[in-house]
Amino acid sequence: MQSYQKLLKDNKDWAAEKLSVDPDYFDRLAHLQTPEFLWIGCSDSRVPANEITGTQPGEIFVHRNVANLVINTDVNVLSVLDYAVNHLKVKHIIVCGHYGCGGIKAANTNNDFKPVLNMWLRNIKDVYRIHREELDAIKNEDKQNDRLTELNVQEQVFNLAKTSIIQRAWKNEQRPDLHGWVYGLNDGLIKPVFEMKAGTHIDTIYEYNNL
Ligand SMILES: [Zn+2]
Repeated sequence: MQSYQKLLKDNKDWAAEKLSVDPDYFDRLAHLQTPEFLWIGCSDSRVPANEITGTQPGEIFVHRNVANLVINTDVNVLSVLDYAVNHLKVKHIIVCGHYGCGGIKAANTNNDFKPVLNMWLRNIKDVYRIHREELDAIKNEDKQNDRLTELNVQEQVFNLAKTSIIQRAWKNEQRPDLHGWVYGLNDGLIKPVFEMKAGTHIDTIYEYNNL
């Protein structure tokens, strides 16, 4: 059996298992999606949102990309954000990075990864520049990357707050709260590193006054 055929076989087993426990399982899920959370995580195969948070299908709306970035020209992440905030009415948005992230490590070198990876990783280099003083002082390479991972999550939370999508929801509905977390591949534990409650003021240059 080819490796991908095993995925299809395991899917059949999984669906049968779900039905054996709850015959209405798929009927119910097919008709309703009311997740309370939007998860913006890394594409890394070792950080599956549902599994590490013990949540089931229907509970978390998920977007993943390399190094969990929120970029203001990325139609993909902004579409997910728009839908999650304005239609699903999520109460919390979680940006979850992870220690040992390949995207963070790659950005923290001077290696040319060629377009398009250079374009993507540039956003992480910008995070380094903003926090250069703190990061330059950390001489251990792994520890420096760990801290860059945390600061990257923090900057992505700021990037969410800079959007009119978030600012409008904060003004009209006092939600969602924004959370920056980092997952540890070594111990399986999530560390909250940054939080921004709905309505928090950010640098005024980013704040819209005619929402
Ligand atoms: Zn990663």
